[in-house]
Amino acid sequence: MKLFNTLTEKKEEFQPLQPGKVGLYTCGPTVYDLAHIGNFRAYVFEDLLHRYLLYRGYSVTRVMNITDVDDKTIAGSLKEGVSLQEFTARYTAFFLEDMATLRLKKPDYLPRATQHIPEMVSLIKTLLAKGYAYEKEGSIYFRISRFPEYGKLSHLDLSAIKPGARVEVDEYSKEDVRDFALWKAEPQGPVAWETELGRGRPGWHIECSAMSMKYLGETFDIHTGGVDNIFPHHENEIAQSEAATGKPFVRYWLHCAHLLVNNEKMSKSRGNFYTLRDLLNKGYSPVAVRYLLLSTHYRDPLNFTEVSLQQASHTVRRYNEFFRNLSFFQGTRPNASLSEKVSQARQFFINHLDDDLNISPALAAIFELIKEANIALNSSSFDAANIRELQNFLLEIDQVLAILEVQEETLDEAVLRLIREREEARKAKDFKRADALRQQILQWGIVLEDTPSGTRWHRR
Ligand code: AMP
Ligand code: ZN
Repeated sequence: MKLFNTLTEKKEEFQPLQPGKVGLYTCGPTVYDLAHIGNFRAYVFEDLLHRYLLYRGYSVTRVMNITDVDDKTIAGSLKEGVSLQEFTARYTAFFLEDMATLRLKKPDYLPRATQHIPEMVSLIKTLLAKGYAYEKEGSIYFRISRFPEYGKLSHLDLSAIKPGARVEVDEYSKEDVRDFALWKAEPQGPVAWETELGRGRPGWHIECSAMSMKYLGETFDIHTGGVDNIFPHHENEIAQSEAATGKPFVRYWLHCAHLLVNNEKMSKSRGNFYTLRDLLNKGYSPVAVRYLLLSTHYRDPLNFTEVSLQQASHTVRRYNEFFRNLSFFQGTRPNASLSEKVSQARQFFINHLDDDLNISPALAAIFELIKEANIALNSSSFDAANIRELQNFLLEIDQVLAILEVQEETLDEAVLRLIREREEARKAKDFKRADALRQQILQWGIVLEDTPSGTRWHRR
């Protein structure tokens, strides 16, 4: 499988540190408001990556941080007169709900920044001890001039670098305007921690270094985000982490292009955004939104329009209808060529997604198969095995796409039918057929157990 690595600006063969295992870190939300669908473009891309790695047999450990302390969260909680904890817990819950609505896999770890202050303090102490950080008026800054590789991810001309939006505002107190805050002194501020570094709170960048390395190790496989994260956030993460450990931080950096509106980035500050809830209130289905965000290659900018969302709705509706209707077809003419086409579609799907998650031609192969299948179905050249093969294939790839709306219902119904069929085979002492059916049922993720009082089943 090949992935485009922002660090080398090349598609590279993906080789995890440990065979078969992947450590994956995703920059998560700052929980001061609802996320917009621009943010969700990034999370849908990361979900596709996560799901596809699983589909290809990797075991994945995924971490996504929750930024629950920064200027915006503090300002929001003060404005409402509630604690930071109460304020951020609300938006964290909304975010997790929206993730589930969009069928985004839950990461294995969702560490909160406020629960990892000791890890950040320890990392900053290491940087101070090694001369990579210095203190000015109680705040602590990273000394960029000590880290010659600064800029290697963003491929920027260092002299052109201006302080980013999240860089400490009082830049005159720093040695160099490019230096960024690791720790912000808060002698009086309402939100601060008493630590060995003094009273203060962490900078944004240090959070991700501390939490990713805690859960994934000092060197891990993949780090993702939107392209706006490359500089300064990810550049700073590399500087902090590699300066502290002396080891490479991340092996593959993947970044998605923006969701645009009239060719401008969708963002809170521009006010040109939709939340997921806005779109659901307008009557669009979650899978339509998911499909729209999923179906353009992650490195291509995607311009959002309601017309494109209507098209996505139409596509997923037809796709689901095709799947649902399969269970009503009855035929008796085995079609080897259709069977061959399913195998071909699977191979195309894999080949294209192996190529840096090239989703558009992967989907095209599926729609081509559906076209062929419709021809076969309408001319009655198929049998029950063909139908099952099509159903199983669409269920199989839905582990990656997650756009089937009828999965649970249909699955249960179809599985129950197979279970009944197997019972009959057992009664007739046709154990070969019973075993074949058990295998088939297992493909649906259902494990059978024969007991004296009958057959029981559970999900794998
Ligand atoms: P933020 O809460 O601004 O840190 O953003 C959370 C995630 O959403 C980051 O990975 C950003 O890169 C990503 N993001 C923000 N706006 C967009 C957009 N318009 N299109 C794609 N990704 C975005
Ligand atoms: Zn981050």
